Amino acid sequence: MDGSIANEPSFRESVDLMFNHAVALMDLPPGLEDKIRVCNSTYVVRFGVKLRGSIHTFTGYRSVHSEHMEPVKGGIRYSMGVNQDEVEALAALMTYKCALVETPFGGSKGGLCIDPREYDEDELERITRRFAYELAKRDLIDPAQNVPAPDMGTGEREMAWIADQYARMNTTDINAKACVTGKPPHAGGIQGRVEATGRGVQYALQEFFRHADDVKAANLSGTLDGKRIIVQGLGNVGYHAAKFLSEEDGAKITGIIERDGALFDEDGLDVAAVHDWIAKHGGVKGFSASGYVENGASVLENDCDILIPAALEGVINLSNADRVKAPLIIEAANGPVTAGADDILRKKGTVIIPDMYANAGGVTVSYFEWVKNLSHIRFGRMQRRQEESRHMLIINELERLDEHLGDAWSMTGNFKEKYLRGADELELVRSGLDDTMRAAYQAMRHVWHTRDDVSDLRTAAYIVAIERVAASYKAKGL
Ligand code: GLU
Repeated sequence: MDGSIANEPSFRESVDLMFNHAVALMDLPPGLEDKIRVCNSTYVVRFGVKLRGSIHTFTGYRSVHSEHMEPVKGGIRYSMGVNQDEVEALAALMTYKCALVETPFGGSKGGLCIDPREYDEDELERITRRFAYELAKRDLIDPAQNVPAPDMGTGEREMAWIADQYARMNTTDINAKACVTGKPPHAGGIQGRVEATGRGVQYALQEFFRHADDVKAANLSGTLDGKRIIVQGLGNVGYHAAKFLSEEDGAKITGIIERDGALFDEDGLDVAAVHDWIAKHGGVKGFSASGYVENGASVLENDCDILIPAALEGVINLSNADRVKAPLIIEAANGPVTAGADDILRKKGTVIIPDMYANAGGVTVSYFEWVKNLSHIRFGRMQRRQEESRHMLIINELERLDEHLGDAWSMTGNFKEKYLRGADELELVRSGLDDTMRAAYQAMRHVWHTRDDVSDLRTAAYIVAIERVAASYKAKGL
């Protein structure tokens, strides 16, 4: 770490600085600014689990940033980097994220200080169940009060254990499944949750490129087709974003940065092949001799059109911000750009699509899952066949026309088959997510373009989110 990084504020301070920058442009009632900024509570638990013949002590956190809406929502992270400052920063971001994408939740976040790669599945299950027990007995896991989800180092498997642990402790709670989201589909989950955050990044970029003015502000032109993208972190979020953008939007993934180095290829990398390689070998090294760069972080500074940091917080900081060339950065991770780096990049004219919007796809689909659990029915179950029979009426009429007009008119290709099919759960989830990402972007860009004192999307996002949180406090009489 060089000297300049030492001057960097902590992650939580960084989030607070960005918050302060936005509230300075707002007119909030006295005292409300502080009430919104502070983290309401952070529970720290230390618990022991007997493993391999001895007792191992673990430290876990669940931080609740704002309860202006309940339940509060946010993932549980498993990483050695977890600490109070980090969970509080992440909980605050959840408050603003939920407000921005209009999911009816307050903000929370949890973490366990653990390297999950050091434990086998059986051990992880015991540790997770014990952590879940500690949180659930204090209502820090509860369908009406606090609903965790996956985050870095956790996934469907951990969420299924948490749901089961809660159900064992609350045998008469008919809504028990709604105590956590991100569960596997066979255990009360929803289709499309695993891909949701990456899918949201794709929808966010698609929406950005629908606005020529915004594209121009980033010194770019045209569409996503052919754009050169560097992705940092090929975990769940980075992988899905890179896969969808390259397979469906014609973008070229020219760089992939991982823990052990980076791959760089101007002609574009095969995302699925790199993903398979990492799964087998634990890193990118050896994937292709030519494009390997040992100092992975240096690739953040390579020429490209779009940079997608999708791993840790603080990777773009005072030490490298002025060398980052990408004209457009989309923050798929939480907090990848520090407040100091944000200032530097803003002054340089870099357009940043901020984390609280860019990675909100996860919590959006979590919201759909929670609603599904509370309503105890899969989306589309009631209307799918009814939709199909109404479509059939139109098809029958068109077929009559077809017969009548002979060769002069006919239905194109597989129109009949495509039109007839009613939407299944996955299609409905994607449609709801796309709609959410479009609406939230438009709310942000409205502030960005209509206020002279707002020159970036992050400040605009904070203003939209804080206004909504403030309105909710006001409605409560606070
Ligand atoms: N951990 C994800 C996030 O940071 C998802 C949270 C959720 O679904 O509640 O947004």
